[in-house]
Amino acid sequence: MDVGIVGLGLIGGSLGLELRSQGYRVLGVSRRPETCERAIAKGIADRTSTTFDILSAAQLVFLCPPLDALRPTVEALIPHLDPEVILTDVGSVKAPIVEAIAPLWPRFVGGHPMAGTAEQGIEAAQSGLFRNAPYVLTPTETTPPDCLATVAEVVRSLGSEIFTCSPHQHDQSVAWISHLPVFVSAALIASCEAEADPAIKALAQQFASSGFRDTSRVGGGNPELGMMMAQYNQQAVLRSLLTYRDTLDTVIDQLQHQNWDALNRQLHNTARDRPPYVAQPVAPSPDSPP
Ligand code: NAP
Repeated sequence: MDVGIVGLGLIGGSLGLELRSQGYRVLGVSRRPETCERAIAKGIADRTSTTFDILSAAQLVFLCPPLDALRPTVEALIPHLDPEVILTDVGSVKAPIVEAIAPLWPRFVGGHPMAGTAEQGIEAAQSGLFRNAPYVLTPTETTPPDCLATVAEVVRSLGSEIFTCSPHQHDQSVAWISHLPVFVSAALIASCEAEADPAIKALAQQFASSGFRDTSRVGGGNPELGMMMAQYNQQAVLRSLLTYRDTLDTVIDQLQHQNWDALNRQLHNTARDRPPYVAQPVAPSPDSPP
C-alpha cells in the first residue's frame, strides 16, 4: 500500500520510519524543501515533495501538521486526491478536528497516537515511538467502516494498542489526564512565584527536590502545548479545572475548620484511587515534555 504523510515532523517522521520498516511505500509532503531532503536521507520516506501532487498515488494519508494547519491542509490537498483515498489525522484534540474535516472528506478517520517526546521537527523523529503506546481512533456514525478497518490495520502494524471512542470522549479523557495536569502544574509554579519574601523564595528554590520536579514538570514545559490544549479543548479543560477548583476548596475548608478526619479520609481515598491511572506500562508521555 502507498501511504502519504503530510507534515514530516516528530510524529509524521516517526510514522514514516515505522511504516517503511513494515513494507509500506511512504510518500512524504512537508512545507520546507530542507525537511523533504532530510526525510529521504533519514529513511523516513521513499519520495518527498513540497507539493501535494505526489499524493495522487496514495491509498491512505496521515495528516501530521500542527493542529491549526490541519483544516487548511485538507482544503489544499483535496484537489489532488483520488476519491477513494482515506484520510486520518494525528491531532491531540479530536472533536473540533473531526467536525472540521469529516464534512470536507467523508472518508476520514480521526486518530491520536498517545506517544511523543519533548522535541519537535524532523530531527526528533524516531523509530519505535508508537510501539506499546495507546493509539486512539475516534470514528463517528458517518465514518465508513472500511476506512476505520484500514486505518486500524495500518496502526496495528506500528505496534500500538488501539482504542476506539467518540471524539468527545477522547477530548474529555485527555483533559483529565493530560491537559488538566498542565494547568495545575503551571498554577503550582505561579503560586510559588507569588511568595513575597525573597528569602523564603530563595530557600524554597534551594530546597526543591524530586517531588517538586515531578509536580512542576508538565507546567514548566512548552507554552505552545498549553495554549493548544486551552484553545482546542476549551470546554473539556474548563470542566476539569472547575472540578479541580471545587476539590481544592474542599481541602481549604477542611484545613480552615481543622476537620482532620475528613482530610485524612480524603488523603486515604486518593492513595487508594491512584493505581489504576498509573498501572499500565509507561509509554512515552504524549504532548508533554518527558
Ligand atoms: P512538529 O514536530 O512540529 O511537526 C510538524 C511538521 O509539520 C513540521 O516539522 C513542519 O515541517 C510541518 N508544518 C509546520 N507548519 C505547517 C503548515 N502550516 N502546513 C504544513 N506543514 C506544516 O509537530 P508534532 O509534534 O509532530 O505534531 C504534529 C501533530 O501531531 C499535531 O497535530 C499534534 O497535535 C500531534 N501530536 C503531537 C504529539 C507530541 O507529543 N508532539 C503527540 C501526539 C500527537 P516543515 O519543516 O516542512 O515546516
